[in-house]
Amino acid sequence: MTNPKRIFVAALATETNTFSPIVIDRRGFEESLYAPPGQHPATPTLCTAPIPVGRRVCAEKGWELIEGTAAWADPAGLISRGAYEGLRDEILAQLRAALPVDAVVLGLHGAMVAQGYLDPEGDFTARVREIVGPDVLVCAEIDPHSHLTAKRVAALDFFVAFKEFPHTDFVDRAEDLWRIAVDTLEGRVKPVVSVFDCRMIDVFPTSRQPMRGFVDRLFGIEDSDPKVLSLSVIHGFMAGDVPEMGTKMVAVTDGEPAHGAMLARRLGLELYANRGRHLMPSTDEITAVGQAMAATSHPILIADMWDNPGGGTAGDSTVVLKELMARGARGVAVGTIWDPVAVQLCFVAGEGAEMPLRFGGKSAPMTGDPVDATVRIVALNEKAEMMFGSSVVPFGPAARVALLDGAGAETGIEVILNTVRAQNYDPSLFTAMGIDPLAQKILVIKSTNHFYAAFRPVVSDILYCSAGRPYPNDPATNPYRFVRDDIWPRRADPFADSTGDAA
Ligand SMILES: [Zn+2]
Repeated sequence: MTNPKRIFVAALATETNTFSPIVIDRRGFEESLYAPPGQHPATPTLCTAPIPVGRRVCAEKGWELIEGTAAWADPAGLISRGAYEGLRDEILAQLRAALPVDAVVLGLHGAMVAQGYLDPEGDFTARVREIVGPDVLVCAEIDPHSHLTAKRVAALDFFVAFKEFPHTDFVDRAEDLWRIAVDTLEGRVKPVVSVFDCRMIDVFPTSRQPMRGFVDRLFGIEDSDPKVLSLSVIHGFMAGDVPEMGTKMVAVTDGEPAHGAMLARRLGLELYANRGRHLMPSTDEITAVGQAMAATSHPILIADMWDNPGGGTAGDSTVVLKELMARGARGVAVGTIWDPVAVQLCFVAGEGAEMPLRFGGKSAPMTGDPVDATVRIVALNEKAEMMFGSSVVPFGPAARVALLDGAGAETGIEVILNTVRAQNYDPSLFTAMGIDPLAQKILVIKSTNHFYAAFRPVVSDILYCSAGRPYPNDPATNPYRFVRDDIWPRRADPFADSTGDAA
């Protein structure tokens, strides 16, 4: 019988849209999730699942789990240097105090960028490695919307990324991570990582083909190939302007690097062959509004897919709303436009008040100008919340306003203004403000894909709308400073002038 193991676990995660104007400081973590050692809730969250899963695994094995801090901030712009270094050093100090340990298990996102740090997770994992030395197992669960830098690959023994987008499998992948960690510590396997650089960047929803079939095949290979411990696709995150941004295919094998490299290359070239075919088709706001107004069955949903606060944008774009106003659309409810100042003015005026109001379009260029309208304040909600699956997402204080015409009559367009930036996940967004979403002709929301499960059953159709430029969604023309040029679509065929034998 072997000695009981001592394992250190911690989480440090967010997703940084380097083009977003909203900097995150320590309060940004504290408002989303900040759990000192031992205080992480029993419920797993997106990037902290290794903690609750680790509690169960270690309890079953009779091992000691030493918990460090867990911190997650909702996606926005750069992390302040003080916030990153403070949280990093807090966790590293906890690790030093926990020594000696047999393993370090981390929950990371992998797309963090901080002031002065283009690769914070590389910096963090390298420091962890330095503290524990070469022989202690260090592993992590990561989000596929991340940057797989060489520094991280060198510092970690292995890692596992979520396979699904939307990320419905973050607990399952934490289970994978822990299973491989236990097998390694008990000497049954020896994980080796092989990475293939796909030399591309794309968006890979698994709710549609070709990615659905691809991910199902990854599961099949994991089940049938005894040399394979885990397969991950690092989708990459095009809103992060960092040198190693891009799609990577990862195979973790049981001490079989040649086999892993062959597999990663074969699968990675398949992703490359399907480049540009993964994302759902979209239209501009003129076409989307035209189609929505011509629809005969309702409600029809316009997803303002790139002004998605879940991807770090402000969520105050007015492009779709202005098109609806210009065309005289009626029966319209617009999900959140972020404008804390306008909400404040509405609260002062009170429900029922009519007033001129300027709102939205303040935070970023190419997201439309502010809207100037006469409005009637229909409803105010200090603690507005919507659902996302079984979790509750706050977006208040919020104001529901009806836009009026020159004669003071309602135009048939209502807008929800909010204070806490939040992706629009669920129809409860509207009911929280007293709007019956099913009674509307047109609903407008801000979300790329996470809305799909809750809205699909209650709307007649979904129109994916690419309006303005709130998000850097065209890697061919995004004004990058650091991103490499040798990836598709920045280069037409990056494999053309080489053998394709990437690392
Ligand atoms: Zn993600």
